Amino acid sequence: MDKIKRERWKRKFGEWFSENIENAGIIDIRYPIKGTYVWLPYGFKLRKHLIDLLRRLHNETGHEETLFPLLIPEQEFMKEAKHVKGFENEVYWVTHGGIEELNVKLAIRPTSETAIYPMFALWIRSHKDMPLKIYQVVNVFRYETKSTKPLIRLREITTFKEAHTAHATKEDAEKQVKEAISIYKKFFDELGIPYIISKRPEWDKFPGAEYTTAFDTIMPDGKSLQIATVHNLAQNFSKTFEIKFEDVNGEQNYAYQTCYGISDRAIASHLALHGDDLGLCLSPEVAPFQIVVVPILYEGKEEAVNAHLKKVLKILENFRIHIDDRNETPGSKFYYWEKKGVPLRIEIGPKDAEANAVTVAIRSNGKKEQVKLEALSLHLKNTILEIKNTLRERAWSFLSEMTSSALSLEEAEKILKRKGGIIKTSWCGKKECAEKIENELNVRLLGINEEERKKGKCIACGEETESVLNIAKAY
Ligand SMILES: [Zn+2]
Repeated sequence: MDKIKRERWKRKFGEWFSENIENAGIIDIRYPIKGTYVWLPYGFKLRKHLIDLLRRLHNETGHEETLFPLLIPEQEFMKEAKHVKGFENEVYWVTHGGIEELNVKLAIRPTSETAIYPMFALWIRSHKDMPLKIYQVVNVFRYETKSTKPLIRLREITTFKEAHTAHATKEDAEKQVKEAISIYKKFFDELGIPYIISKRPEWDKFPGAEYTTAFDTIMPDGKSLQIATVHNLAQNFSKTFEIKFEDVNGEQNYAYQTCYGISDRAIASHLALHGDDLGLCLSPEVAPFQIVVVPILYEGKEEAVNAHLKKVLKILENFRIHIDDRNETPGSKFYYWEKKGVPLRIEIGPKDAEANAVTVAIRSNGKKEQVKLEALSLHLKNTILEIKNTLRERAWSFLSEMTSSALSLEEAEKILKRKGGIIKTSWCGKKECAEKIENELNVRLLGINEEERKKGKCIACGEETESVLNIAKAY
C-alpha cells in the first residue's frame, strides 16, 4: 500500500506549510515582531547545509566571501536615484545613537549595493583588478507592508546570499550573468527545486539594473514564487559610485557590474515542494540528519541489539546520523521523524541482530526493506542518490503539470481558476498590453524566456509576435 499522499499538501497548502515548518522544528513564529522569526536548532542545521552548498558553488567559480556592515550612511544610500526610489518604502532607518540624534541617518541594508560599491571604487584602479567577484551571506531588512509569511515574505530576511562583481568589459559582465545563472541552476538542481527562467519586464527589473533575469518556481497551491534573481547593472552604479579603472589602452573607463541573490525562499521552496501529507520530506543533500537510527529494544534482548548497534554505527560513520534512544515507543519515534522529513530511517531490532542486518525505511516513498550489514554502506550511498533524483523528478513533473499555454485571455482565466500555475502565452511587448493582461487576469508578468520563440498573437491586442510570455498568480 502506498502511504504517500499529497492531497492536503496541495488543497490546503497555506495551512500545511505553517503547520509543518513549526511541527518539524524549523522556525518558531512567535517572536513579537511581525515578519521576523527564530531559527530553531533543526531548521538552523538545514539552513547551514544549504548555505554550505551555496558557498561551495561560489568558491569553486572564483568568488570570494566577504562581510560588509549592516548600516549604510544616508548619502551613499541616496546616491543612485532609481535604486533609492525602488527601496524608499521598505527601508528601516537608524536615527539615534543612544539619546542623541545622529547627524547622518543610517539605513539598515535592504540589500548591499550602496554599502559595497563605494569600497569597490577604492579597490579598483586598473583592468588588472578585475574581474572582482565577491559574495556575502547576511541578513537584510525590508519593511514589508503586505501580509508577511514565514520564509516567504519577511521583514528580516535572515538568509540573503548576495554576490557582486565588477568587470573591465561589457562582454565580461554578460558572461558573468551566464555564470550566475548556471550556478543557480546547479544549486536548485542539487536541492531538487524546479524553476523557470524569465527576463523580467522593464518596469519590474531590479532598481538600477539594466535588466533582471529571475528564477521562479510553482508552489503546491499553484502560485509562483521568485526564488533567485540575476541583474546586469551595466555601468549604472559604477558611474554613480565612481568605480573607474584604467583599461588596456590606458584610458579611464567605468566598470561593468552584475549582482545576484538568493534568499530564505530557497529554503521555503525546498520544504514546500518535496513535502506530502505526512509532513516534510528533505533531500539528503541538506537534511540535518540523513539517517535516523532507531534501536528497538525488547526485554531480554537489549544486549544483543546494543552489540549489533555498535557494529552498525561503524558502518554509518560517513553519513549524517542521529540515534533516537529516547524512552518512547518505536511507533511514536517513526511518526516524529517522518514529520521532520529525515530521508532514511534504520531500525535495529532483535530480528535484525539475528540476521546480521538492519531494516531501512525510505521517507519519500514509504518503502521498507531488510539489508545485510555487508551490503549496507553501498546500499545507503545508492539510496541517497536515488532519493535525490526521485525528489527532483517528482518536483519537475509537478512543475510541468502546472505549466499550461493559453491563446486568449478567456482561456488563461479558465486555467487560472482551475489549477493556477504558470501560463505561457504570446505578448507583443507593449506596456499597455501588459497592463491589460495584469488587470484582467490579476497575475504577475514573470517575463519572457529569450531562448523560447514561438509564433503567435499577442493575447491582449492580437498583434503577431514570437515572444513567449510567462504569467502566474504570484506570492
Ligand atoms: Zn499586444
